[in-house]
Amino acid sequence: MTAQLIDGNALAQQVRGEVAHRVQALKARGVEPHLVVILVGEDPASQVYVKHKVNDSSQTGLKATLERYPADMAEADLLARIRALNADAGVHGILVQLPLPKHMDADKVIETIAPAKDVDGFHVQSAGALMTGLPGFWPCTPHGCMKMLESIGYPLRGKHAVVIGRSNIVGKPMALMLLAQDATVTICHSRTADLKAQTLQADVVVAAVGKRNVVTADMVKPGAVVIDVGMNRDDAGKLCGDVDFAGVKEVAGWITPVPGGVGPMTRAMLLVNTIEAAERAAG
Ligand code: NAP
Repeated sequence: MTAQLIDGNALAQQVRGEVAHRVQALKARGVEPHLVVILVGEDPASQVYVKHKVNDSSQTGLKATLERYPADMAEADLLARIRALNADAGVHGILVQLPLPKHMDADKVIETIAPAKDVDGFHVQSAGALMTGLPGFWPCTPHGCMKMLESIGYPLRGKHAVVIGRSNIVGKPMALMLLAQDATVTICHSRTADLKAQTLQADVVVAAVGKRNVVTADMVKPGAVVIDVGMNRDDAGKLCGDVDFAGVKEVAGWITPVPGGVGPMTRAMLLVNTIEAAERAAG
C-alpha cells in the first residue's frame, strides 16, 4: 500500500486564500486587521520565523508590524509595551516570539497578552477555552493538524488516535482537539512503556516528539493516518520529521511529509487566528 499524501503546502495556500477573502470583507467594513509580532533579541531561528509571519500576513492583505527590541530590554518595558498594544483598538493580534532572553519570564509575558488578542493560543485562558469548549484561540500547530484531517474528510468519531508528545503547545492541545471530535485518545510520552503496542492500535498517529524515526513502518496499523509534527535534521542536514517517511508511507493510508506538511499549516493557522480576532473585535 502507498499512502496518500496530505499536502500541507497546497492546503496552506487554500487557507491563505480564504483568509484573504475575509480580510477584504473586513476592510470593506472599514476595519484593517492588524497583527503585531514582537521579537526580543537576535536569535537566528526566531528572526527567520518572524520574517515568515510578517510576509505571510502581508500576502493575504493583513497588516503586520514587526517590533524588534534588544536582548537586554527590561522585562517591565516589554510588559508595558504589551499592555499598550492590548489597549490599542487598532491591533487585533499580538504575538511574542519565543524563546525570550533568559532574564524574562515567558509565562508572565504570555499571560500579559489580552486573551482576545492571543493569536498564538498560548495564554492560559486560551488553554482553558480549549479544555472547556469555549471560544478562544487554538494553538496553531495542532489546529493545522486538525485542518489536515478535515481536508481528507476523515471521520474521527469513535476512532482511536495516539498522540506522541505532551507539550503544552502541541501534544496536549492536539489530544483535546481530537477528543472534541469524539475520537478516543491516548497520549504517549518518553515514559510510555511500549510505544509500538499503542501506535499499532491507532487509526490516527500524531508524532510531536522532535526525534527522528520515532515512528517506523512496523509501528503503524495498515491504512492509518500519520501526522508528522517533528522537525529534525537528518545525517545530510536535511529537514525531516519524527516519522520514517519512506517506510511508513508503504503501510499508512495517509501521511504528511516533512517538509511541506504541518510546518506550512502552522504558519497558515496564525493568519486564521488573526483574522478571527479582528472579526470578533469588529463584532
Ligand atoms: P517538546 O516540548 O520537547 O516535547 C516533546 C515530547 O516528546 C515530550 O512530551 C516528550 O516526553 C516526548 N518524547 C521524547 N522522547 C520520546 C520518545 N522516545 N518516545 C515518546 N515520546 C517521547 O517538543 P514540542 O515543542 O512539542 O515539539 C515537538 C516537535 O515538533 C519538535 O521537533 C518541534 O520542532 C516540532 N514542532 C513543529 C512545529 C511545526 O510547525 N511543524 C511546531 C511546533 C513544534 P516527556 O514529556 O516525557 O519528556
